[in-house]
Amino acid sequence: MPDATKPISYPGGCLCGAVRFLAHGPPRWVAHCHCESCRRTTSSPFTTYAGYLSEQVNWSGTPATVFQSSPGSERSFCGRCGSPVGFTSVRWPGEMHLFVPSFDDPAAFSPQVHVHTGEQLPWVHLDDHFPATRGRRARGRRADSAPTDCKRPQPYQNA
Ligand SMILES: [Zn+2]
Ligand SMILES: [Zn+2]
Repeated sequence: MPDATKPISYPGGCLCGAVRFLAHGPPRWVAHCHCESCRRTTSSPFTTYAGYLSEQVNWSGTPATVFQSSPGSERSFCGRCGSPVGFTSVRWPGEMHLFVPSFDDPAAFSPQVHVHTGEQLPWVHLDDHFPATRGRRARGRRADSAPTDCKRPQPYQNA
């Protein structure tokens, strides 16, 4: 039985272990994002984020390299192994969005929603019946001109 009085922290990091993070407490929300920018940055059909306040996240090891993927949006990754490790945007001031699959225990998180399903690949079929927001549809735009990078989902409920 977990001690409810003790805040839980979730460690994680990149593939090679150079970049490490420790997220304190539950995330504000957990969402699957189907947008083209997330698809390209992870080379995966979609990815899953845990939204934290920046002050809930402590970084250690080698500082991540930061890439500006669209105006006001920054994606950080390990400069050694290339793993994406974080996303921030002026759209969500003070928030750090971590990738659930890069946590040491991804199963500890419960996704609640799909965002940007307007950009979902036609061969991705999911039957979790979570609520979905379509976002703005991509029309042959370049990743660095993405008009919307990850829409804010609803607050996190522990599942
Ligand atoms: Zn690495
Ligand atoms: Zn996205």
